[in-house]
Amino acid sequence: MTTSFQGIGISTGQSLALGPAFIDGRRRRNIARGWIAPEQIPTEIERLDQAVAAAHTGLRAIREQIPQHTPLNIADFIDTHLLMLEDVALVDEVRRIVSEQHCTAEWALQVQCDTLVRIFDEIDDPYLRTRRDDIEHVVEQIQTFLQGSFPLPEHGTQDLAGHVIVARDMAPADLILWHHRGAVAIISEFGGPMSHTAILARSLGIPAVMGVHDITAYLQQGELLLIDGQSGTITADADPLTLQDFRRRLQHAQVHRIRLRQLVGQPSVTRDGVAVSLMANLELPSDIALAQANGACGVGLYRTEFLYMNRRDLPDEEEHLASYAEMIVGLGGIPITIRTLDLGVDKRVDSVPASSPAGSNPALGLRAIRLCLKEPDLFRPQLRAILRASALGPVRLMLPLVSNIQEVETVIALIRELKAQLENEGLKFDPMLPVGAMIEVPAAALIARTIARRLDFLSIGTNDLIQYTLAIDRLDDSVNDLFDPTHPAILRLIHMTIVAAREMNRPVSMCGEMAGDPRFTRLLLGLGLREFSMHPGAILDVKEHVLQADTHDLNRRCTHILSRIDEADLGDLIDQLNTP
Ligand code: PEP
Ligand code: MG
Repeated sequence: MTTSFQGIGISTGQSLALGPAFIDGRRRRNIARGWIAPEQIPTEIERLDQAVAAAHTGLRAIREQIPQHTPLNIADFIDTHLLMLEDVALVDEVRRIVSEQHCTAEWALQVQCDTLVRIFDEIDDPYLRTRRDDIEHVVEQIQTFLQGSFPLPEHGTQDLAGHVIVARDMAPADLILWHHRGAVAIISEFGGPMSHTAILARSLGIPAVMGVHDITAYLQQGELLLIDGQSGTITADADPLTLQDFRRRLQHAQVHRIRLRQLVGQPSVTRDGVAVSLMANLELPSDIALAQANGACGVGLYRTEFLYMNRRDLPDEEEHLASYAEMIVGLGGIPITIRTLDLGVDKRVDSVPASSPAGSNPALGLRAIRLCLKEPDLFRPQLRAILRASALGPVRLMLPLVSNIQEVETVIALIRELKAQLENEGLKFDPMLPVGAMIEVPAAALIARTIARRLDFLSIGTNDLIQYTLAIDRLDDSVNDLFDPTHPAILRLIHMTIVAAREMNRPVSMCGEMAGDPRFTRLLLGLGLREFSMHPGAILDVKEHVLQADTHDLNRRCTHILSRIDEADLGDLIDQLNTP
């Protein structure tokens, strides 16, 4: 009997796969509390050190196996894990727990893992919060060696060509190996769209579904699975008709991908001659290649948070500058929008000297621009570095989570002061460096005109705008279905922002996930949006819609939609925008 499971679709575009299940039988171990005698402490620590060294060697071996043609950032993922194995917060603490509590290395490791995971859970930044997965994966590697077994790399070389891997959890290193062995899709019980494994799956183009609780218990080894990596639907035991229909979709998707590649290099212009900018959202310099391969005309959002990850100290001005310079040179002249630090407050993040304790609701607390303004030592080096980077190529500076005009005024004054400083020091910068704000809080959308008057551009961050407008935690599975980009309130705020920018003669873009979802391209064009920034893998899908669109017609239809925004048929009208 056809059975369907619903998880979180990690992939973009038509991302389908079909194949027999390979259920990864490895389970997270149940670590029992174990005690040791005081004289056993040195041996226990020696055992721990050997396991850490073995995990290190294992990861290095994986890193060396990465084929030339795979995206560069795969190596970065492995490097992140290698760094964690060297991090004193992990291994030194485990040694200390073994010595002080006279417990086994396994138990000490679990205790420290739980502590670190709790700390990461409290970070109010979705990207950094999902770094907890990395800690768990690294701990898993060490536990494996402690318990005398070997992790995936040594586990035989079974050919998994054409298989769908079903796992409880999956480390990026595992995903690389599954990929090498020919796996065509992955499913995991845990993990979300912002985990390293998810990012990696997208850049490898592997359909992936995550957060399918308990699925390993329901599936049979070898059973045929149909995966839709975008919608997150998994079908098992499909009847012949469902199977036939899926095969047709699969063929269609393959043809579609080949056709999309031909759009690279074609000007991004609508049927009625309106130019539309399609830019990339990037996080690491190694993402540049993907942006270029898909013909991005700029970087509409460069998230700088990665500079602060996996370390205890703060990056200084020179380090900021070096990383921006690498991006600017790599991008070869296309503009880059550098967003200032968007980190949530957490008093236990050693590298961020945020003095305020985490509030009861960190999403509404001291994060992003609020944190930066409260911590000038955190903010100034980054602002100076962005200013200096602007002498090297076309750069824009963007402020996250602006919610009032005082924040904008304060930053403008600070930038003015820093420009004078740089001038006195004889350091170069672009005196006209454009400064813009993200519109990702309803209050900012409502005063978008005032913000636009003070700044050079706006960019709509729908991920947070939806979260804050609809009161839906974007990380909470249980309310995921209410996260609706076409909610009338969201459409009003988006339209209001676009109109405000237009009236003030300022460019406005969108860099939230909505901009990279082709289902909304026509709607956004009709609402007046002309600059889109998205995961580079989504650019060609969106471009296809742009090329077929007629903005005249879409503007007319969207004006009608806005006039009926309180009516029940709004959803139908929006759907009709995508039907020829
Ligand atoms: C957004 O909120 O839409 C956005 C692009 O920022 P982030 O996802 O980094 O919070
Ligand atoms: Mg945001």
